[in-house]
Amino acid sequence: MSLVLEAELTWTGAEFAPNVQVVVDGAGRIEQVGALGRADASRLRGLALLPGFVDAHSHAFQRGLRGLGEAFPAGAGSFWSWREAMYALVDSLDGKTLRRLSARAFAEMRDAGITTVGEFHYLHHEREGDFALDQAVVEAAADVGIRLVLLYSYYATGAPGRALEGGQRRFATPSLDGFWHQVDRLAGVLAPDTQTLGIAPHSIRAASPAEIRLLYEEARRRGLPVHLHVEEQRREIEESLAAYGRTPMAVILDAVQGGPFTAVHCTHSADQDLARFVAGGGIVCLCPLTEGNLGDGIPRLARAHAARGRLALGTDSNARLAMLEEMRWLEYGQRLRDEIRGALPDPAGNIAPTLLDAATAGGALALGVPAGRIAPGCWADLVAVDLGAPALADVPRERLLEALVFGAGNEVITGTYVGGRWRERGSGATGIRTRDESSALAGRRGAGK
Ligand SMILES: [Zn+2]
Repeated sequence: MSLVLEAELTWTGAEFAPNVQVVVDGAGRIEQVGALGRADASRLRGLALLPGFVDAHSHAFQRGLRGLGEAFPAGAGSFWSWREAMYALVDSLDGKTLRRLSARAFAEMRDAGITTVGEFHYLHHEREGDFALDQAVVEAAADVGIRLVLLYSYYATGAPGRALEGGQRRFATPSLDGFWHQVDRLAGVLAPDTQTLGIAPHSIRAASPAEIRLLYEEARRRGLPVHLHVEEQRREIEESLAAYGRTPMAVILDAVQGGPFTAVHCTHSADQDLARFVAGGGIVCLCPLTEGNLGDGIPRLARAHAARGRLALGTDSNARLAMLEEMRWLEYGQRLRDEIRGALPDPAGNIAPTLLDAATAGGALALGVPAGRIAPGCWADLVAVDLGAPALADVPRERLLEALVFGAGNEVITGTYVGGRWRERGSGATGIRTRDESSALAGRRGAGK
């Protein structure tokens, strides 16, 4: 049975248009979009539909740090002092608490309009070598019905040539063969409609250039996306220069022979490295709220942004889960650094479409999922916003995207569809409806008109 949705306004990729119907097939994919005039459409009165947001970089368990590490009695902290607090959290987690924390984070993500998460998962072991924690994250995502791309992390060293220490041993992937064996095992347990895999050598700290090359070649052979943390901290660059005589980005690009991957952060990347990276099809994933919280710095995006669509957004440490805020802080960081307004324009000079693109199609491209657009063939992953919410009320549709991206927060989000299945905002780790129920719900929304 197909589901036909007609919101008051629907984002077409170019504008918010009325009278647009979205036909969802029985498998949860968008079959048709347009002014179809079907009488059986469920009318979503007072709502606008956009593509569901794609969170291309998350560590769900770090939501457990809420409220921690935000006082500095001994003087200013840094990424590295924050990491100590994060490692202390790691020490306290078992499979049960990880599943609960992850499910809570995923539920909050859906409340923030996020329908796909790229979970960069490196916390593998409950007890050394058991890989028991992988399952906890997969199950938590299924509980909440969020689309999951499990970016399975390879983590062999604490820095170039340095063995893992303490809590880091819970991240260990001792051999390439063992890593791929576990990837194969996981491929067998993922939900076919909503869960896929990617490969994530954690960073140049955690994987050698030779390992990155082998992981990349095998991932490409299997058609899996590849993600790495790149140049978030100056110390990583110093360690790489000392060990390899090149920046981390240059080392990785040499290892993958200039091929495409997703580089998370690029906070301190050199212009020439970023230019080479983007020319090879690379995607820069920024996590503005986390980078701000950790005091990382602000990347120089102008060159990387030359090819629109090569940006993605992530919520990373999940200290705050608000994709609309991530969008505007992508632009605001550049404004504050360069003392200009309008730092990331599209060819027509508009900013909001660039930011929405990073939060939808750019992320979907980075994760290798057909999503991020309201178009035939894509998953029916959608976010519904309340046009009557104070932040959006009386805004003409020509300015609605700007009002949403620059002036609204999670409170305007009514709910999300993943594969055509509706979840109301605020319904916790449950509240996932069947397709029939979401159709009935849409019907109820239309009642009275
Ligand atoms: Zn990260």
